[in-house]
Amino acid sequence: LRGNQAALRRAVFLRGLRFKLLLRSLYFNSLSNADTLLDCAFEPVYWIVDNVTRWFGVVFVCLVVLLTTSVVVIIYLFVLPTILRTYPLPWVVWHLCCGHWLLLMVVFHYYKATTTSPGHPPKDKVHIPTVSMCKKCITPKPPRTHHCSICNTCVLKMDHHCPWLNNCVGHFNHRYFLSFCLYMTLGCIYCSSSSKELFLEAYSAIERYYQTPPPPDAVQETTAYKSIIFLWVLTSSVAVALGGLTLWHIILISRGESSVERHINKKEIARLREKGKVFKNPYHHGTINNWKLLLGVEKRR
Ligand SMILES: [Zn+2]
Ligand SMILES: [Zn+2]
Repeated sequence: LRGNQAALRRAVFLRGLRFKLLLRSLYFNSLSNADTLLDCAFEPVYWIVDNVTRWFGVVFVCLVVLLTTSVVVIIYLFVLPTILRTYPLPWVVWHLCCGHWLLLMVVFHYYKATTTSPGHPPKDKVHIPTVSMCKKCITPKPPRTHHCSICNTCVLKMDHHCPWLNNCVGHFNHRYFLSFCLYMTLGCIYCSSSSKELFLEAYSAIERYYQTPPPPDAVQETTAYKSIIFLWVLTSSVAVALGGLTLWHIILISRGESSVERHINKKEIARLREKGKVFKNPYHHGTINNWKLLLGVEKRR
């Protein structure tokens, strides 16, 4: 009887052990820790944010095209006729050349920045210099490469994911991105400064319309005045905001840092300072050389 009881106890113990083993086999991973658990818990949030941002990218691109077109149409309809009518010939020629050149540059660089791939690590080549593995792509990551969760791929020399381009800014389109920012800022400064007089005129005229009974052609005239006010406010605010962003990128490029690396390097500087060491950016080759690398003119051609 005592032997039977011992065998029963052992059977129960073994069944418990088997159940425990089965349960553990379902979730156990030697690499799991609190970080992985937190990542898993936040996975649905990441998914929603990434998908919404991806969708927003299309809306933002449409917005850029729509607002730029509206500015160009207002210039053609209301500003250019005034210039042609009232300015001396040299100024007319200057406005025609400068305005159209800026427009051409903005359109070209925006098109190139949105359609040029930023560059991805080669999947077929095994012997490439790598520094780590991408957890998401499960492929080797060359130096300066980062994973973009919105594009869902690794990007070479990733700077940032730009919703206004609906594209990542990286190795192959960084120059187009900077040129676009620069020409868009210049274009906005040009529009805002050349329509300033008209804006002041329109602003006081609109105030008059609201105070006295409107004259017969009021509707057509107020449309023109309102368009000019819209043009000036939009181009001035974009000039300030985009001008600041462009300046920041110019500083980063001069330092040999991408936007992603700026965050990493900041942490690294603080970490090494605590140890009494000084951080040295390995990709800073001197301001002139950094610009030559970005513009692709490091060799004579
Ligand atoms: Zn990746
Ligand atoms: Zn991206």
